[in-house]
Amino acid sequence: NWPVHAKITGPVIMIGFGSIGRGTLPLIERHFDYDKSRFRVIDPKVADADKSLLAERGVPLIEEAVTKENYIDLLTPLLTEGEGQGFCVNLSVDTSSLALMKLCRELGVLYIDTVVEPWLGYYFDDSLGNAARTNYALRETVRSEKRANPGGTTAVSCCGANPGMVSWFVKQALVNVANDMGMDFDEPAVDDREGWARLMRDAGVKGVHIAERDTQRTKNPKPMGEFWNTWSVEGFVAEGLQPAELGWGTHEKWMPENAKTQADGSGCQSAIFLEQPGANTRVRTWCPTPGPQYGYLVTHNESVSISDFFTIGEGLKPEYRPTVHYAYHPADDAVLSLHEMFGNGGHMQPNYHVLDEDEIVDGVDELGVLLYGHDKNAYWYGSRLSIEETRDIAPYQNATGLQVTSAVLAGMAWALENPEAGIVEADEMDYRRCLEIQNPYLGPVEGHYTDWTPLQDRNKYFVEAIDESDPWQFRNVLVA
Ligand code: NAD
Repeated sequence: NWPVHAKITGPVIMIGFGSIGRGTLPLIERHFDYDKSRFRVIDPKVADADKSLLAERGVPLIEEAVTKENYIDLLTPLLTEGEGQGFCVNLSVDTSSLALMKLCRELGVLYIDTVVEPWLGYYFDDSLGNAARTNYALRETVRSEKRANPGGTTAVSCCGANPGMVSWFVKQALVNVANDMGMDFDEPAVDDREGWARLMRDAGVKGVHIAERDTQRTKNPKPMGEFWNTWSVEGFVAEGLQPAELGWGTHEKWMPENAKTQADGSGCQSAIFLEQPGANTRVRTWCPTPGPQYGYLVTHNESVSISDFFTIGEGLKPEYRPTVHYAYHPADDAVLSLHEMFGNGGHMQPNYHVLDEDEIVDGVDELGVLLYGHDKNAYWYGSRLSIEETRDIAPYQNATGLQVTSAVLAGMAWALENPEAGIVEADEMDYRRCLEIQNPYLGPVEGHYTDWTPLQDRNKYFVEAIDESDPWQFRNVLVA
């Protein structure tokens, strides 16, 4: 008895049918009222097993790549065919999110994606320079389009698990911390960005880790020469070779020598980047199952968007801004895959594979936000979804996938309920409504306080360059 959240009145066009696309399909079927004969998938390279999922349902597959050259001619007739308002669900790699959302908005078609994706080739173009290869730069293309063309047909940018759901978790976690500290406050309205920023400042939050531990594992160990992951290998390698990047908080007193600001004056300037790849940059963090752990400082849109959203003031030196970054411990097979890849000059292994729900024997994707620096030290809030529970509640995906696809579901429902909201990212959406839709798919969603800090167990055998005056300095978090 699944609730139907909304009606889609026009065609539904899904671009990309990889691990996230195939997991999103059954959720769309369950939760939306739409004409199934008007659903199409576009993807140049669908695995045979996934083709049969589409064939069983009579969903036509258009086996073409969406490119810079063909996207207008290919997509326009599909998105506008027949009556009603269409919905474009972009779950592909190598297609420009900006170009696709602009086209959809011109056509009056709703749009959603899970990342600001560029056209093919961008991530590995070493002539661009590292500032241009950041998520700051990618996000800024979408933010400047929003500034130039405010309002209009809704296009939801970056609405997966992270970026996406974690922005909703940050607000819920902040409200929980403020309540637990006995603060007297009114919860800010959805559109009261400054109110949210003031609440975070008043709660004493210095920063946020998107703290994730994926313990999903298979029976057979990964062979040498293969890259294994629990979601897109191509997506992970692309972002992992971008510069490490983080929202830069006002409490920070030290910056790494190879850090760069986005000092050219365009945009919010909330983030800095390091002249080194994120997936080869380690940070200290904390999740409920392992306790203290290392994670990778992989760049993500939410590091920039959350730090921007919770800023008081503007520019490089605002009055208040939290430090925000990803601290990702992927599945053990992916950690080993990265180790081999960087050992071999950053060349990706010739063979790669996404672990599916049938070969994973056990494990949990523990994905949450760690709000730190306040009077109760640090608070992790997030989803602890196991592979077993995933198999029980939704087909065709592992735990990592379901955290993403259920966020796409929530984002689509929100867009249908708010069809004229313009370009939005998860921070600008109603977090309560979105989590209400998503929660049935997240397994246990829990909050945990910890007394751990990145100064724990330091200076033991070796003298370290740490700042003992404030445990939550990035200097203490970064693994030198
Ligand atoms: P995947 O690699 O499993 O699948 C991507 C699919 O896109 C493939 O089937 C591929 O053939 C198709 N594709 C490639 N080029 C295309 C083109 N030009 N036109 C149409 N289709 C094309 O990836 P995935 O794990 O399904 O991830 C999909 C996207 O979602 C990626 O951009 C990834 O970064 C993003 N993602 C976001 C989150 C999040 O939490 N926000 C999490 C996981 C994945």
